[in-house]
Amino acid sequence: MFCNALAKEDGAANLIAFRGQLAFVILNLYPYSSGHLLVVPFKHAATLEELDPATRAELMELATQCMSILRKIYKPQAFNMGANIGEAAGAGVPGHVHIHVVPRWGADTNFMTALGETRVLPETLEDTYLRVRGEFSSRQKN
Ligand SMILES: [Zn+2]
Repeated sequence: MFCNALAKEDGAANLIAFRGQLAFVILNLYPYSSGHLLVVPFKHAATLEELDPATRAELMELATQCMSILRKIYKPQAFNMGANIGEAAGAGVPGHVHIHVVPRWGADTNFMTALGETRVLPETLEDTYLRVRGEFSSRQKN
C-alpha cells in the first residue's frame, strides 16, 4: 500500500504530504482524528531492525516535524506517537513499518465512542492533506 502510494504523483490521491531523503509523511486513509499522519521509510521493511540508523533517525525527525506542524494547524492538547509492529500488534500494513502521529484533544475518544464507533471528522481528508502539505512546503522554503 505505501509502495503503491509512492509510485503515484503526490496529491490528494496518494495523500503523501512530504518526501524526505529516506522516509516520507502520508495521511492515514482511516484517521482516528483529523491530522492523523504516518511516517514511513522508503525501504519496504517490516520492522525497525531492518532499517539502517540513518533511516531510523529520519523517521524520528519527521515524526517530530509532524508534531510541530500539527500543533500549528490544529492546536491539539496532546499526541499519541508510536508503531504497531507485526500483525498481532494490530499493524494495518504489517509488511511496511510506519510510525503513527495522532493529535489528541481531551475526551475526544470518549466522544467518538459515544457516537458508536463512527469516526466523526471536522474536515475532509483532502482539506487535511492540503493544510499539512502546505505547512511542509513552507518549512522547506525557510
Ligand atoms: Zn511497501
